[in-house]
Amino acid sequence: MIRLIPGESFLEASCAFGCRASLQEGFNDFLAGHCGEGTGSNRVLQGTRTVEWPLRCSTGITAYKKRSQTNGPNVKSSAFLFITLTACAQQRPVVLAPVRMETTGDTSTTGPVSRRVFDTHRDDPFATTNRIDWPGPNGYRSARGAPGPEYWQQRADYSIVVTLDTSTTELTGSVEIRYTNNSPDTLRFVWIQVDQNLYRTGSKGSALFPADSRWGVRGFEGGYNLTDVRVNGASVRPRINDTMMRLDLPTQLAPHGGKATIAIRYSFRVPEHGSDRMGRDSALYEIAQWFPRMAVYDDVRGWNTDPYLGQGEFYLEYGDFDYSVTVPAGYVVAGSGILQNPNEVLTSEQRRRLSAAAGSSDVVQIITRAEADAGKTQPKPGARTWRFRARNVHDVAWAAAPDFRWDAASWNGILAQAYYEFPKAGTAWEHAAEQTQWTIRQYSELFLPFPYPQATSVAGPVGGMEYPMFVMVHYGNDDPASIFGTINHEHGHEWFPMVVGSNERRYAWMDEGFNTYLNAFANEARYPGQSAYPGYLRNWADAVTSGTQSPLMTAPDNIDPAALGAIGYRKPALVLLTLRNHVVGAASFDTAFREYIRSWAFKHPTPGDFFRSIENSTGEDLSWFWRSFFYTTDVLDIGIDGVSTHSADGQTFATIALHRFTSIPFPVRLRVAYADGTTQDFSFPVNIWARTDRFDAVVPVRGNVTGVRLWPDPSVPDWNPSNDTWGKPPTANTPGPVTR
Ligand SMILES: [Zn+2]
Repeated sequence: MIRLIPGESFLEASCAFGCRASLQEGFNDFLAGHCGEGTGSNRVLQGTRTVEWPLRCSTGITAYKKRSQTNGPNVKSSAFLFITLTACAQQRPVVLAPVRMETTGDTSTTGPVSRRVFDTHRDDPFATTNRIDWPGPNGYRSARGAPGPEYWQQRADYSIVVTLDTSTTELTGSVEIRYTNNSPDTLRFVWIQVDQNLYRTGSKGSALFPADSRWGVRGFEGGYNLTDVRVNGASVRPRINDTMMRLDLPTQLAPHGGKATIAIRYSFRVPEHGSDRMGRDSALYEIAQWFPRMAVYDDVRGWNTDPYLGQGEFYLEYGDFDYSVTVPAGYVVAGSGILQNPNEVLTSEQRRRLSAAAGSSDVVQIITRAEADAGKTQPKPGARTWRFRARNVHDVAWAAAPDFRWDAASWNGILAQAYYEFPKAGTAWEHAAEQTQWTIRQYSELFLPFPYPQATSVAGPVGGMEYPMFVMVHYGNDDPASIFGTINHEHGHEWFPMVVGSNERRYAWMDEGFNTYLNAFANEARYPGQSAYPGYLRNWADAVTSGTQSPLMTAPDNIDPAALGAIGYRKPALVLLTLRNHVVGAASFDTAFREYIRSWAFKHPTPGDFFRSIENSTGEDLSWFWRSFFYTTDVLDIGIDGVSTHSADGQTFATIALHRFTSIPFPVRLRVAYADGTTQDFSFPVNIWARTDRFDAVVPVRGNVTGVRLWPDPSVPDWNPSNDTWGKPPTANTPGPVTR
């Protein structure tokens, strides 16, 4: 899913083609020149709003020492420094305990305290109803963070047949779900997701999210009309609770492989604004959440019945899907999976071009501009049925329009496709097939080979939304970069959560966060010399200073919508980069991350599985890291109180007095400058903070020490650069890529 720029309303941000790219997630910095996102963030930075700084600058006793020397040009990004100084200036006189350990004791009387969400996971009013984040270890989930010998998950295979009536904008059809109970439990009822009920008057989601917001239903009245519901042929009466439906089974479903067939006839009106996950624009339809889908039954929470409210995404079972879509004869359908009846719906010329594209690394036009124009002006009578099959996926989606241009190219046997109306989608979309191909290749080489036969990008009103083998991306403009970030991001979701099927509705960081981490690699490769780090950091800083932060463990529907980009996307990506580059090392983390992906491909990992998996692979106890960055809203701030030297046995030693100002420990790296102009780096493990918030780092030195700098590599997210140097500090490394 795409996310909004914090502080911007949906309507502001989605002002059609030219600045639709401001919606782009993943790499705002690179696009600041093309669209509004960078500008938007600057506006926040330069504003005069009162900022809240609940944790970091209220450390009283020592406060933050403003030393006489100024920071060198490479200390931290100037924007970051600006935020920090501005924020600190607000509340410096407030006195609190020097180290804050999971308390909410902010006695500040300034700042918009009423906007505070919560500071620790325990403060989340819903946390006590959380079922377990760290299940096991047991036979299902092993202590090493991999599926255990008795791991099981349910299976749902679907056959769906629908007709789209473009005159009434209604979708009518049926779904047959062949459900296999692989659990050790006998099931007497099942839960099914009926997401279209978000558009029923009075739905929970419509009450929670303002009607004019991104997730808002805009006054549309829709929802599922279920006309026949059967289990194994017997009619059953569904019990519907908002977007969830319980079916009591006529006969109990046996454990370890028992099967039931659920058949539902249904219809719904297609919303124009489908919570930015589906919708329509004139003749173009983008269709998702379009059939009743099995809720996940797992070993952690039993039935996962969190309703679809809008901001939270999905959690679905894997299986094979056969679906057919009947549309007006002139329409072209793009969808998840492989087209099964090209002979019936494509011309012989289109089929010839498609097979050429399947063997071509260069883009081939399957439907040219002239042909698409003809589709717009020469409607065909009657209807046509397009059939698709998608295997080993947990969802399918599709789009249809009479005037799609269709480009395709292949890589490694995978067809990369782009469907777009022209010129509405912008000339950027003439690059979309290549961008799709590049993205699939990039992530395949870096993380796990793309396991599906094709990847499709469709241009439309949806800002950015992902489904297996199929993504929806906003219209562009003439600049190819206006869509690249979103195409890259949405296809990154093929790895999370399409292949690694975590529970997006509860853990945005395992979906959007991991994907935004991937995006840093892709974007730094696509735009050499640039770095993902400053944009990610600025976004997190905005949420901290505006008081909208909540812990990463917060369920997405409970995250302040203004902070969704920071908490769901950028902070998790940035803390993973931090873990990789400054805690366990790039090679070690890359191995561990790939191992996690491999272990949980087509399965349902929990946060605990991820934490255990990374710890086992890297050989590090990282409990402090998870606690600090995933379960609290605290930020890192370590400083230098002072430096002294002494001699003993003919050797000179420097004592560098380190001070930890927040609850967050971190391994320390120091750079010492000598009078002769040389420098020397020293490292200390995180364990130095085990018993204390002050640590004297005693190091042997080879000359007169003239200055010291914490974090010689500037991509450590220390919140307060003003206490990171002493004397005439040595220069830091030049900021650069963070994914090497
Ligand atoms: Zn996303």
